Amino acid sequence: MLDMILNKIRDYQTIIIHRHMRPDPDALGSQVGLQRLLQKNFPEKTIKVTGYTEPNLAWLAQMETVADEDYQGALVIVTDTANQARIDDKRYNQGEALIKIDHHPNDEVYGDLSWVDTSASSCSEMIAHFALEMGLDLDSDIAYLLYAGIVGDTGRFLYPATTAKTFDIVAKLRQHDFDFAGLSRQMDSVDYTIAKLIGYVYDHLEVDGNGAARVILSQSLLKEYGITDADTAFIVGVPGRVNTVKNWGVFVEQPDGSYRVRLRSKFLPINEIAKRHHGGGHPLASGANSYSLEENEQIYQELQQVAADASK
Ligand code: AMP
Repeated sequence: MLDMILNKIRDYQTIIIHRHMRPDPDALGSQVGLQRLLQKNFPEKTIKVTGYTEPNLAWLAQMETVADEDYQGALVIVTDTANQARIDDKRYNQGEALIKIDHHPNDEVYGDLSWVDTSASSCSEMIAHFALEMGLDLDSDIAYLLYAGIVGDTGRFLYPATTAKTFDIVAKLRQHDFDFAGLSRQMDSVDYTIAKLIGYVYDHLEVDGNGAARVILSQSLLKEYGITDADTAFIVGVPGRVNTVKNWGVFVEQPDGSYRVRLRSKFLPINEIAKRHHGGGHPLASGANSYSLEENEQIYQELQQVAADASK
């Protein structure tokens, strides 16, 4: 598969790289890390990245303007995105060929080539593996982006998806001279407004006897704290620090009254719950959408059931 991907890359003069909406460090690290990797190894090619520039992560990566004409005869690569509905910038199918590179469960196969490795901690780990296996040149910029993606998706090596291979790859990335301490500090820092919201989350966390937890963030609360929906990424791991909590949902009200539900679990899969409620994701980190308060209750009950089963 790696050879097939590299051959496809060799065949095209223009390559456009996409990733999922609401990008996180792994989405951006894999997307822009791959761009820089290909640009370094194939300087004669035109390689672009597209999608929304997430303000919270503009320090990590910024997007470019890609014209409709650029897609003519181009190769499009989509990183870190399980299903086509979540691809940012809908022009991804306007190219001549399409490659999917992802580490989420392969619920929707798409593209002319599809490389999916659910054992990888992150899509950035896959890109680093691709570079190392194929003997491509890396530099400190590329290593920085891929390292940021791996740290993001492993919760700084906290989640079970962190493997010996992850550490092996990280060790090789760390050999490059990037600002490791600065990046680590950046990824560990939050604005003071977020720090206050973390206080709110601990204060208002509801935890049942089996360790199923939830917190609800209404639109009025988000306004009061001066934070956006995207900012809630900074607090989604917070309930997991409580030792009695086994799984949890952060219910974030949207301007239209629906809820984006960020689901997390320490051990038992919760992605089937996400799939039943207009979402999906990894076994231990998924996202759902809820369209009523009843559905919010239903989702919490399903989380409680998983926690109860784990307590048996
Ligand atoms: P988040 O809570 O947004 O950080 O999402 C956690 C994981 O679930 C990520 O891997 C997402 O790709 C995935 N995910 C979130 N929302 C959805 C959705 N609506 N459909 C499919 N996957 C999702």
